[in-house]
Amino acid sequence: MPSVTLRGTSSPIVVSKIICVGRNYAAHAKEMKAEIPAQPVFFLKPPSAILPDGGTVLLPPISTDLHHEVEMTVLIGRGGKNIDEHSALSHVAGYGVGLDMTLRDIQSEAKKKGLPWTLAKGFDTSAPLSEFVPAAAVSDPHALEVELRVNGAVRQRGNTSSFIFRLERLISIVSIYFTLEEGDVIFTGTPEGVAQTVPQDMLEATLRTPGGTQLSSLTVRIGRA
Ligand code: MG
Repeated sequence: MPSVTLRGTSSPIVVSKIICVGRNYAAHAKEMKAEIPAQPVFFLKPPSAILPDGGTVLLPPISTDLHHEVEMTVLIGRGGKNIDEHSALSHVAGYGVGLDMTLRDIQSEAKKKGLPWTLAKGFDTSAPLSEFVPAAAVSDPHALEVELRVNGAVRQRGNTSSFIFRLERLISIVSIYFTLEEGDVIFTGTPEGVAQTVPQDMLEATLRTPGGTQLSSLTVRIGRA
């Protein structure tokens, strides 16, 4: 079963679903020529899409335009349904960084035809995930920097203080429709700077505190399926 690790715990945590938020930074919505959403847009990746730190993202032959989207990730520790905003953060076990790898050409085609994004977003290796740091070690999840370097050069940098929808609201809204379970992972949306990445690239994603302390990191290579 696909699993993730939470720092300080000995056994891996089995992931039951991966919920992703489509647009959660205004600057990214603008670069995609999309409106700032009034309600969050959600989509899913299957747990089989998880790629651990150090792995290789495998570009399927159907696509020639693989994009990176660096995102803060949330690991749910305690499940629930109809969770209210006031208690939402108490359901979080940890925070990490992930890459919402996207076949942009396949996604654009799907958008045009009104078809689902499943293939563009959920292919094997499309969900690289770092180790999670315990929530207790993070004083404010809305003051964290996410950064992506490609071959050493900074490509994306954002701060979770710029979220359109804060975590309390995301967890509360999503739990109306999807019962949250221990081991669920939420991708919280990408800042601006999404771009193409090609085989042989090395991607390094980091999550840092306001003081610059690294909380978690993730390194993957790009290859071909
Ligand atoms: Mg994304």
